[in-house]
Amino acid sequence: VPSKEGKMYIKALFDYDPYEDKAIPCKEAGLSFKKGDILQIMSQDDATWWQAKHEGDANPRAGLIPSKHFQERRFALRRPEVLVQPLKVSNRKSSGFRRSFRLSRKDKKTNKSMYECKKSDQYDTADVPTYEEVSPYRRQNNEKYRLVVLVGPVGVGLNELKRKLLISDTQHYGVTVPHTTRARRSQESDGVEYIFISKHLFETDVQNNKFIEYGEYKNNYYGTSIDSVRSVLAKNKVCLLDVQPHTVKHLRTLEFKPFVIFIKPPSIERLRETRRNAKIISSRDDQGTAKPFTEEDFQEMIKSAQIMESQYGHLFDKIIVNDDLAVAYNELKATFDKLETDTYWVPVSWLH
Ligand code: 5GP
Repeated sequence: VPSKEGKMYIKALFDYDPYEDKAIPCKEAGLSFKKGDILQIMSQDDATWWQAKHEGDANPRAGLIPSKHFQERRFALRRPEVLVQPLKVSNRKSSGFRRSFRLSRKDKKTNKSMYECKKSDQYDTADVPTYEEVSPYRRQNNEKYRLVVLVGPVGVGLNELKRKLLISDTQHYGVTVPHTTRARRSQESDGVEYIFISKHLFETDVQNNKFIEYGEYKNNYYGTSIDSVRSVLAKNKVCLLDVQPHTVKHLRTLEFKPFVIFIKPPSIERLRETRRNAKIISSRDDQGTAKPFTEEDFQEMIKSAQIMESQYGHLFDKIIVNDDLAVAYNELKATFDKLETDTYWVPVSWLH
């Protein structure tokens, strides 16, 4: 169904090179594109090969691209196994809730693939990202702010970046208050550090899908509710949320219009140089104490980032490499400033 002005646009969620495609009838007629490119659909008359051109391209000649249906079928046949596994709650970074994302290692002695394939709700076989129909969107002044989701591997510096942004303008930025079932400590107040609720209520809320994510730690539950995001947005603040990347697809609604930023580590050489004196709460440490980075932490961070990018890269609106913290912060700040005024391509389903 063509969108406004009779034009239909799609966002490519994978890379395509017709010269690598054995099925295309004529390679010269193909249109190559990269993940994230916006394409204008010129014809969908053929069930297998659509005609498209790059958005804004003045050249009227269209090229062939695989149709959604055809590409989905091909992807389903050679779908890589999913390598992620959720972790139990074990540590806490200085602000907000922890992000529990870890690679699961196989027994090193078996010399098999280092990463185990886990069947879990993280693995959604129906998920074969090909194209998404999009339309231009610009936030109106009277509209709520878009939810900003930050994702990245443990130790990449996401929490520092988030904290810097928060303190730069506490009137403008906000974070969610998590729920917990543990007892309130004397210096804590309800609704500030946590929203304290009973186990029974927590379990009911889980059943009713009220949580974006939750975990268990020392016999208590902790979690972030959807309503806690709503309450930040209702204060007319930009809500900063950091979650595991697999939760992002559940947040991609008309209500939140999430803008997803991936904080990516630099090369391992730069990690060694820039994090020499820094500390990490390692995902391998159940005590959650901060210790100097080890070589294994760097390797785990890089590997975890690669997996995140290959599995969820199609959901990222912006990638910021955190090499030098000050540079990354400036880039983040600039991204936020533009978000409030620029036009973005968003799923058509967010617009009506
Ligand atoms: P504490 O009880 O000492 O405040 O926190 C214990 C643990 O709960 C910490 O390791 C922290 O990371 C975790 N935690 C706090 N909030 C959340 C949350 O919203 N979700 C999850 N999954 N864990 C949380």
